[in-house]
Amino acid sequence: MSKSENNIKDINWNFDNTYFHLSNSFRENIKPVPVENPELVLFNDKLAEDLDLNTKGIQKDQLSQIFSGNLLPKGSNSLAQAYAGHQFGHFTILGDGRAVLIGEHLSKEKKRFDVQFKGSGKTSFSRGGDGRAVLGPMLREYLISEAMNYLNIKTTRSLAVVKTGESVVREYPMIGAILTRIASSHIRVGTFQYFSAKQDLNELKILMDYTINRHYPEINDSNNKPLELIKKLLVNQCELVINWMRVGFIHGVMNTDNMSISGETIDYGPCAFMDTYDPKTVFSSIDTMGRYAYCNQPVITKWNLARFAECLIPLIDKDKNKAIDKATDLIDSFETLYEKKWIEMMKKKLGLNKSDINDKNLILDLLKWMHKKKIDYTNAFCHLMNVNVDEGKCFEDVYFQDWKKRWKERLSLEDKSQKYLQTMKAFNPIVVPRNHKVEEALKSANQNNFEPINKLLNILKKPYDLQEDITDYQAPPKTKEKYFTYCGT
Ligand code: AMP
Ligand code: MG
Repeated sequence: MSKSENNIKDINWNFDNTYFHLSNSFRENIKPVPVENPELVLFNDKLAEDLDLNTKGIQKDQLSQIFSGNLLPKGSNSLAQAYAGHQFGHFTILGDGRAVLIGEHLSKEKKRFDVQFKGSGKTSFSRGGDGRAVLGPMLREYLISEAMNYLNIKTTRSLAVVKTGESVVREYPMIGAILTRIASSHIRVGTFQYFSAKQDLNELKILMDYTINRHYPEINDSNNKPLELIKKLLVNQCELVINWMRVGFIHGVMNTDNMSISGETIDYGPCAFMDTYDPKTVFSSIDTMGRYAYCNQPVITKWNLARFAECLIPLIDKDKNKAIDKATDLIDSFETLYEKKWIEMMKKKLGLNKSDINDKNLILDLLKWMHKKKIDYTNAFCHLMNVNVDEGKCFEDVYFQDWKKRWKERLSLEDKSQKYLQTMKAFNPIVVPRNHKVEEALKSANQNNFEPINKLLNILKKPYDLQEDITDYQAPPKTKEKYFTYCGT
């Protein structure tokens, strides 16, 4: 046992590392690079409890050492994963350039979780980068991923943020930090692309079998595992993007390396929630072409799925043409599925359970009006749920009043025993992490005041509940200035 293992308090990690036992081409065995003066600034007690960790009674100093990677726990086999990806449409070999997987933790229920430190120093995949992360973006990931979880959207989780006590040079020196990310795995579309690009069929097959065993064991007995795996991902990613659309979430960098095979939202970079409804909304300063705009997210999901399917072609059928035909048919089913599921979701936002021939028009007419009149996306649905929102006189608009009459008539076709408001309340959040509130909280945290971020985190734990004194968090920004997020890594 190493010195560090002897020194460390046991917080009940229960490591069972399987990725580590794949061949060397999947990873680089590497430890986090120690940091100067770690200080724990956020810790997710509830998540720690859900993971069956025991951090009670452990000094903050110890936790700071643990969650900076300065002290590696017993049973850890730390590694950086190899992967590739299409970034803004261009193929690149990537890999964990500033992250280290310290192991796979099993909860008491035997659920498996990757534990990853993001910002933990250089690896062989760093490509000239410094391997480090900045406090603001790590807090942003913590905040938004936790918000997504409480919005009932599949996501990686955030367990801790530690300041490293070192400055990180970007445009100017910034505060260094490490985020502990918990994921059901970090296998991405890009992981498959890596082995596909290497034309290593054997490793590709190993990765496919590993992924199926880990995430979709139910398809192990199917006649065509690669095709079934594509189908699983297609259905899961369709559901995921529909949920993003439901709450007005814009991921910002839907590169194939940021698409998880588990169907969780992963890699929160320049992501943000839309205030004013505009399908073309883009926040990322680097997305100048609007590739990852709100309305493009389903299109890109399909594009990414096609890249995934391409990797598996050699495993689908020995006859390449047959394999391509089968994969193409499957990928082409995405649009129909998406359209069906999107209408179902939008209907729920309006409290509609039954079907009527005019439902699609009813939805589109509302959205068109919201777009034209620059209505706040979240608050429009709050208004329909009779939740008080300060939106001036916009809802007095004649067109909207007319639309509302149509909606009420449509509601009268619903089963009276089905409480339409209950449906709406489960689909329409009252509060989302609005950009100006996120920025406000991050700014304070940068000045060492963590009260605003903790307050925001608390409010975001109950996004569907009426909470007292949160009007400030429900209101859109006062200025109509265009908001940008920067890929400040
Ligand atoms: P991301 O934008 O976080 O999805 O990162 C894309 C790729 O760039 C991944 O391979 C990262 O590991 C790598 N990367 C991002 N920032 C850094 C950094 N500061 N140092 C090294 N690699 C980085
Ligand atoms: Mg990434």
